[in-house]
Amino acid sequence: EGTTPPRIYEVFADITEQRAADRIKSEFVSTVSHELRTPLTSISGALGMLDAGALGPLPDNMRPLVSIALKNSKRLSQLINDLLDIEKIAAGKLQFEMKWQALQPLIAQAVEANQAYGTERGITLRLAETDDTTVVRADAGRLAQVMANLLSNAVKFSQDGGTVDIQLTPLDGWTRVSVTDHGCGIPDSFRSHIFQKFSQADASDSRQKGGTGLGLAITRELVERMGGRIGFESEEGKGSVFWFELPSHAAPDPEQAALRLPAQAHQHTTRVLIIDDEPQGEAPASHDALAVVNVRDRQSALDALQQGLYGAICLNLDLRDGSGLELFRHIRSHEATCDLPLLVLSEPIIPVTPDTSQEAAANSTSARVRWLTPPLQREELLCAVEDIIVARTGGRLRVLYVEDDADLHQVIPAMMASDCDVDCVRSVADGRTRLYARRYDAVILDIDLPDGSGWDLVPEIRKNQPQARIVVLSGKTVAAQDAKRVERALLKSAVSSNDLLAALGRQQHRKP
Ligand code: ADP
Repeated sequence: EGTTPPRIYEVFADITEQRAADRIKSEFVSTVSHELRTPLTSISGALGMLDAGALGPLPDNMRPLVSIALKNSKRLSQLINDLLDIEKIAAGKLQFEMKWQALQPLIAQAVEANQAYGTERGITLRLAETDDTTVVRADAGRLAQVMANLLSNAVKFSQDGGTVDIQLTPLDGWTRVSVTDHGCGIPDSFRSHIFQKFSQADASDSRQKGGTGLGLAITRELVERMGGRIGFESEEGKGSVFWFELPSHAAPDPEQAALRLPAQAHQHTTRVLIIDDEPQGEAPASHDALAVVNVRDRQSALDALQQGLYGAICLNLDLRDGSGLELFRHIRSHEATCDLPLLVLSEPIIPVTPDTSQEAAANSTSARVRWLTPPLQREELLCAVEDIIVARTGGRLRVLYVEDDADLHQVIPAMMASDCDVDCVRSVADGRTRLYARRYDAVILDIDLPDGSGWDLVPEIRKNQPQARIVVLSGKTVAAQDAKRVERALLKSAVSSNDLLAALGRQQHRKP
């Protein structure tokens, strides 16, 4: 007797300690990983620019070293991302935003997104034509991650110049996606370990090919958490097929399914103030890229201008109350509006030929004015607004970057130097001050700042600078519902110039 109570006590103490240790470990992993991402962003950003020749051609003996360094910084950031995912899976913290959606467009997009990775080694990703319109219940982001893993493995283990085939097959109640390569295949002895963490058929391989041995472990978890199953077939020396299946059903309306492509980066909305008392023809309506507010007289126009909410103005010069010209001068002479793209709706007073408009574009004032002939057409308005916004300030974007890491203040602006002029500030307070002083086309926000969170600035930017695109660039993964509050959420550590420019709505500049 007398031995039982202490024993119970011991067991109890053990579990508590174990839990505490687990929690500390998982907090440690997540903090370390997040803290690693910021310096890694500087490293891979700087190396990426050197490698792309953005700062001039590299001497022959330097080029391979820079490219090795770049490759390894990417590998390190992949490792961090994988570790974090594994940690989240273990802690049950991986979140899914499940939605019924057409599968084909998601797969097509994934193939497209990973194409460049194959191109480097002359490997073609080939998506089989299909009239498949099944919808699956999935999280689009996680599905993209699954595809990225399978496609990058298929490319990694293919011979140079090979092909990787991607196919959709509807089965009974499921749709199968298969990724087939004609590479080295998987040794028999390794097959039972392939989905285990940190497992690689040939560890020496990983040094050559990169990779962490975590990809498939994560992929399987993601597929299973979406209610699916995953498997593979392989013949050594001939290649492998990795497949996954998701529960699916036929789209209720095939046409709709085909149309429902996932939202692209182009969610940017420009608010246009139309000052026109005689809206003729087809009234320009608001839609995704364009939010239109129409006012009809001088006073409402002045009130609306006072609010300063607009990204562009469209003015009918021939207002019946005769205030058109006065409003034109008002817009051009007031600080809050003088910079705004202005579309003037009028029978052309000055004949504008392509040549003279070219000349006019060189002149900074008229670059922001464009003449449109009434009646105003919706499509024409949309094109004109886009053109004029791109044409403004010689097509360069004015960007505010709120980030407390001093090195990133150098690297990020340099990465965007082709298209953007960037003002850097280190705190929420400094960001706020700048936002009151100047108009920006875009704001890039870090989240963890010395005096608060980047999210604090989002409502203020939306209110005072609704034309600005907001991009979050943070070491922490942004939750799906938060990501919706901004145009783009990017993760530090692996961002390239192209990622940044694309997030700001710029065309990608391909590496020559
Ligand atoms: P890694 O990051 O190393 O690619 P994965 O978990 O994705 O990690 O893959 C684990 C291992 O499985 C790889 O290192 C490789 O040995 C093997 N493997 C995965 N996909 C293929 C494939 N398509 N062909 C041959 N081997 C593969």
